[in-house]
Amino acid sequence: MTDSYVIVGDGVAGSSAAETLREERPDADITVITDEGEALYNRILIKEFAKGKLPEAPISIHDEEWYAEREIDLRLNTLVVDIDVENDAVTTHEGETLGYDALLLAIGGTPQQLPVENADADGIQHFWTFQDARQIKESVEDADTGVIVGAGLLGIDFAAICGAQDVEAKYLMRGNAWWRYALSEEGAELMHEAMRERGVEPVFDSGVDHFEVDDDGHVEAAVDPNGDRYACDFAGIAIGLNFNTEIVEETPIETDDGIIVDEYMRTNVDNVFAAGDITEFHDTILGERAQNGAWGSAKEQGTIAAKNMVEYGSAEFRWVSSYSITHFDFPFLSFGHPTLGDESIEATTGEGEWRKLALKDGKIVGGVLIGDLAPQSAYKQLMREERYVGDQTEALLADGFSVDDLTQTSKQ
Ligand SMILES: Cc1cc2nc3c(=O)[nH]c(=O)nc-3n(C[C@H](O)[C@H](O)[C@H](O)COP(=O)(O)OP(=O)(O)OC[C@H]3O[C@@H](n4cnc5c(N)ncnc54)[C@H](O)[C@@H]3O)c2cc1C
Repeated sequence: MTDSYVIVGDGVAGSSAAETLREERPDADITVITDEGEALYNRILIKEFAKGKLPEAPISIHDEEWYAEREIDLRLNTLVVDIDVENDAVTTHEGETLGYDALLLAIGGTPQQLPVENADADGIQHFWTFQDARQIKESVEDADTGVIVGAGLLGIDFAAICGAQDVEAKYLMRGNAWWRYALSEEGAELMHEAMRERGVEPVFDSGVDHFEVDDDGHVEAAVDPNGDRYACDFAGIAIGLNFNTEIVEETPIETDDGIIVDEYMRTNVDNVFAAGDITEFHDTILGERAQNGAWGSAKEQGTIAAKNMVEYGSAEFRWVSSYSITHFDFPFLSFGHPTLGDESIEATTGEGEWRKLALKDGKIVGGVLIGDLAPQSAYKQLMREERYVGDQTEALLADGFSVDDLTQTSKQ
C-alpha cells in the first residue's frame, strides 16, 4: 500500500516535513497545500527586502520545480477550510476533498490587528508574508513619518525598516522599555540608543488609542492613551499573532493558544501531527508545555514530525531555539525561553555588552545576549544538559565565561 501524506502550510515547517517524508518514503503520495501564491521563501529575510537592502530573488528558497522534481504535489493559492478526522480528509476552499493516511498542520499564525478605531486604514501595515513585505516597502518609500506599535522582536524589524528608508518614526511602547518581559531597562537602553541612531524615537508608557485618517482613508496620525498625537503616513503594527486554529475548531484536535502536540509532534488524534509556530509542544528541557516562534525551531519540528508520521516515536523534539537581530552595529541574540523561569540574573560585561539568563530550579532555560555573543554555545550546552548552575551565578555572568569555569555540583 502506498502511504499518503497531506501537509497544510508551506512555511519552513511544512516544507522541511515534505522533504523529510520524501527521503523516508520514496513511493508515498505527498501533497503540500498553501494559501500563499508562492512556494517556500525565507521569512527571516523579507525584512531586508522591505528595508530595500535585498532584491526578491535570493529570498526564495524553493521554486515550483523543486516540488515537481521530488514528485510532491504543491497546491498554491489553496486554502484548507475543513478537516474531517473521522474520514481522514481535508477540504479546500474550492470544495476539493483530499484523503490522507497522516496529516500535518504547519499553519502558523496571522498578525493581530489593534482593536482601535481606524486600525485598518491605508498605510497601516502588519508583517508576516512576502506579500506584506512588498506592500510595506511601497508604503515606507512613500512615507516621511511613521509610527510603530509592538515592543517585541517583530516590532523592531519595523523600526529598522523605517530607519533604512529614512522615515522619521516614533516607536510607541506600553511600558518603559523595549521587550520589557525579557530585558531590564539597562539592557533595553542599548536597543533604544540603537533605534535613536536610526532616527526612530522610543516613546514610553504610550500605545494607540485610535488612528486619525485623511479624506482618502489614509492614516495621518496615531493618538495615544495620554492624548498625545503622533503624525504619521505609515504605521507598522506587530502586537502578536493569532494562531490559525480555525480549521481545527470543529474537530476533536486539542488546542489552547495553538495546537497541542507531544514531543513527537503528534496531536491527540493518532494520525494528525502539527509543527512550527502553531504548536504548543511538550518541551523536554523546560519540563512544561511551550511555544517557539523561530525559524530554526519550526524547521526542526517539521523534520521531527515527518519522521514520526512515518514511524511514531522514532524522533523526539529537543531543541534550544535562537533568534538573532542583525539590524544594528552590534549583535543581539535571544535563546531558549528568556521570559520564563523562576529567577533571572543579568550583568553588564563591557561597554555596550549586556546579558541575562533565565533560570528555572537553578537550570538555564533561556537568555539574551547583547554586544558579545561569545558565551552563547556554553549557555546553550548547559541548557541542553539541564545542568544545575543555580549556585554559580557569578561565574556564569563573568566576562569570557566558559563551561570549564564551573565547579562540579552534586545537586541536579
Ligand atoms: C518579518 C519576520 C521576521 C522574522 N525574523 C525572524 C528571525 O530573525 N529569526 C527567527 O528565528 N525567526 C524569525 N521570524 C519567525 C519565523 O519566520 C517563523 O517562526 C517561522 O517562519 C514559522 O514557520 P512555520 O512554518 O511554522 O509557519 P509559517 O511560516 O507562518 O507558515 C505557515 C503557512 O501556512 C499557511 N496556512 C495557514 N493556514 C492555512 C490553511 N488553512 N490552508 C492553507 N495554508 C494555510 C500560511 O499562509 C503560511 O504560509 C520572523 C518572522 C517574520 C514574519
